[in-house]
Amino acid sequence: METLTQISPNEVKLKEKYGPFINGESVEAANGYIDAVNAATGEVLAQIGRGGKEDVDKAVKAARAAFPGWANTTIEERSALINKIADVLEENQERLKLIECMDTGRALHEFDLDYKLAIYQFRYFASAILTHYEGASRPVENGYLITKKEPLGVCAQIIPWNVPMIMASFKLAPALAAGNTVVLKPAEDACLSVMELAKLIGDILPKGVVNVVPGYGTEAGQALIDHPDIDKLAFTGSVGVGKLVGKTAGERILPVTLELGGKAPHIVFPDVDIDRAVENATLGYTFFNGESCILGTRLLVHDDIYDEFVEKLIERAKKVKIGPPTDRSTRLASIINKKQGERVLNYFEIAKQEGAKILYGGNRVTVPGHEHGYFIEPTIIEAEPNMRIAQEEIFGPAATISRWKDIEEVIEIANNVEYGLAAGIMTTDLEKALETANKIEAGSVWINSYFNFQSGAPFGGYKNSGVGREYSKEALDAYSQSKTIVAAYQLPPAGLFI
Ligand code: NDP
Repeated sequence: METLTQISPNEVKLKEKYGPFINGESVEAANGYIDAVNAATGEVLAQIGRGGKEDVDKAVKAARAAFPGWANTTIEERSALINKIADVLEENQERLKLIECMDTGRALHEFDLDYKLAIYQFRYFASAILTHYEGASRPVENGYLITKKEPLGVCAQIIPWNVPMIMASFKLAPALAAGNTVVLKPAEDACLSVMELAKLIGDILPKGVVNVVPGYGTEAGQALIDHPDIDKLAFTGSVGVGKLVGKTAGERILPVTLELGGKAPHIVFPDVDIDRAVENATLGYTFFNGESCILGTRLLVHDDIYDEFVEKLIERAKKVKIGPPTDRSTRLASIINKKQGERVLNYFEIAKQEGAKILYGGNRVTVPGHEHGYFIEPTIIEAEPNMRIAQEEIFGPAATISRWKDIEEVIEIANNVEYGLAAGIMTTDLEKALETANKIEAGSVWINSYFNFQSGAPFGGYKNSGVGREYSKEALDAYSQSKTIVAAYQLPPAGLFI
């Protein structure tokens, strides 16, 4: 087994400086640079541009200039070029995984899934665009009707730090396939892999089609959403910032896609194989370091098996290996930064004050050589479903657990939350599972296999989890507008209307 514990920035050939990527090249940032640090060790990995108004304006101008050319490429040309992006991502993935591992602090082995999904996104939309225009014309009386899809223009896209390459691919692939140009703002906490991707894309696509401006949300992000020459806003992140983006879209009548938080219920019926259910539940709340909006963080377990389930869940949590992110055997590594680490730990204090019971975990762990990092134990909290700890997004490796007896009661508990991104159900009774899934207010419901992402399945949220769907053909619609053209063979005879 590979047991790398530390990797130097030189080994992954990081550049010293990543300025904004504008019009096909890396340029100097107008407002200077910020340190990009290894989340687990605190080591400075590189400098990233502190993007601001000036950089954003240059990027939007480049995207605007590139738009007519890109919009007028044939779908076959676009498809071939987007497939090339998938190819280079595939060729460069091992290096990019290491970069992203150091940048985010997440365990290296997880990135196999991240990159599988990211590469797949580009391949999926390279194919999907080829059928996006089908069946759109018909004869009408004295003429013809044509409906066509057109790109929107320049898309502003803002992504978070938790799964940078997944997020970049979810945003870029459908926008590009539909013929738009893009200005992307990655999160300042983890953007190095995305800056590297920009360079790779720059060797494939015409100049200005993809522009990436790193920097703080309040500076680069705000400048981007405020820019007057943007045609679409797309955002993934917190509900708070999502509301800001939505407000801007409302004021300017811009189409908007929002993918916000989650607090997914994971319902366990009494008929399950408990050992396997515990395994699935553990994966469901600890993967992505617990830093993901899709995780099954509200375990709702039937009373008949509750005690045995809890006992086994705790035993399983004890075996989750916490260690250096770059060690392939590590399963739980460092939270992105001190602020987020403290936020997670603070939630455990809130839980205790509310009367919830920490059954296991709740502590920061020190990993030798990585004292800077916030490594947090897998944490299981027995809580009432209405407590803050069971209602708010923690974004750390923690799950609440509560018992239920009646199916209608558990559906009500599952739905009694502001979010509706995902949910899980475990049972051997498929009829019961589907009946329950139909009543759950969530964009994705996974039965007996947590986060079972499948080709072309729409992904997005109900309620405060967002607006719109990604990962599927629906995303092409979100990055296009329809035009209807009705053509009569000749002008109407005089006197028809007057
Ligand atoms: P944010 O919503 O603040 O960040 C998401 C993105 O938005 C980042 O690129 C950020 O920039 C940018 N941003 C921040 N403020 C603005 C603004 N005023 N205008 C435009 N863009 C802006 O999330 P946080 O990183 O602060 O995380 C806080 C919480 O949000 C987490 O604990 C979690 O609960 C939730 N979250 C949900 C995610 C999801 O996938 N749904 C992902 C990440 C977080 P920058 O960070 O560079 O300053």
